Amino acid sequence: MPQEAHVYSYSAVLMGSPILLKLFQHNEHLAHQVFRLIKHYENLLTVNRSPSEVMNINHAAGLHPVVVNPAVYQLIKCAKSASLLPNSAFNLAIGPLVKCWKIGFQGSSVPPADEISTRLALTSPHQVILDDEQHSVFLTQAGMELDLGAIAKGYIADRVRDFLHSQQVFQGLINLGGNVQTLGGASQMRGTPWSVGLKKPFAGPDDLIGVIEVEGKSVVTSGTYERWFEFAGKRYHHILDPSTGYPLDNELHSVTIVSEDSVDGDIWTTLIYGMGVEQGCACLANKPGIEAIFVTKDRRVVLSSQQLFTFTLQDSSYQLAP
Ligand code: ADP
Ligand code: MG
Ligand code: MG
Repeated sequence: MPQEAHVYSYSAVLMGSPILLKLFQHNEHLAHQVFRLIKHYENLLTVNRSPSEVMNINHAAGLHPVVVNPAVYQLIKCAKSASLLPNSAFNLAIGPLVKCWKIGFQGSSVPPADEISTRLALTSPHQVILDDEQHSVFLTQAGMELDLGAIAKGYIADRVRDFLHSQQVFQGLINLGGNVQTLGGASQMRGTPWSVGLKKPFAGPDDLIGVIEVEGKSVVTSGTYERWFEFAGKRYHHILDPSTGYPLDNELHSVTIVSEDSVDGDIWTTLIYGMGVEQGCACLANKPGIEAIFVTKDRRVVLSSQQLFTFTLQDSSYQLAP
């Protein structure tokens, strides 16, 4: 019998989130390199403090194009294409609205309607001009702002996976706070999946609806219960509808995407969140590499398909719908 391998866990707080790395070897140096890599990308992509490549683009809005690092350029290009899909709920230029709602930050409040409409006019992804030769990005109007908050963690999780592969590490797990990327299985024995908890909305951090099991896949969850505030008896959460400027409002509490790459999971959580259960399942029927787990406000758990993972329901107050 092969011996059960020991898992070594390393943690840090980066990007405002608890970060967890699991490895099958005790290697502080490697963990340190992983955390440094995450910090490196955080410094390039953040919109919460200067300087960062994205802040440089935002500061030059309406003035001039900004040449950026090739990796940042490719990520912005990918975010722009997702934003230009028909009826997309994803918008990389949502920054002016995110900044006025301040959801998840101190001082969040419901902005006046006229401020929302003024800022909405500054969020067109068509006005994010990319130059493939120069690797430059130009926001054509003053006041425009990119926000890569809905894609950055996914992108970084994939970079951590690639780095570990380059170091000949093919088993492990990185959790960037809602974005989990797994490498291989959860033991040196073949066929042992990693377990990723599906959180119960508005409950304690260890309160689970069920468990998702995967090997070598990404699991990304976006939920209305992650960051929100309450005003006059109504909850406002942090995923905004780019067509109205207000938080997306539908039958969902959360969407989880299982996929190969975490960057796709991050984009698709937002896209599918905007579609809702019925349209989301119809859309994913033609996308074999992207699978969704919906958690509805009326306590249903809906799986779009189940080729990439298995799901076990644990909380009997929820109903599993195929
Ligand atoms: P989480 O923060 O739980 O990982 P997401 O990956 O969905 O959730 O990212 C949400 C963040 O993305 C928000 O905090 C905001 O910065 C930004 N954002 C909000 N609405 C949108 C949107 N419609 N399109 C793109 N980014 C958004
Ligand atoms: Mg995210
Ligand atoms: Mg996302």
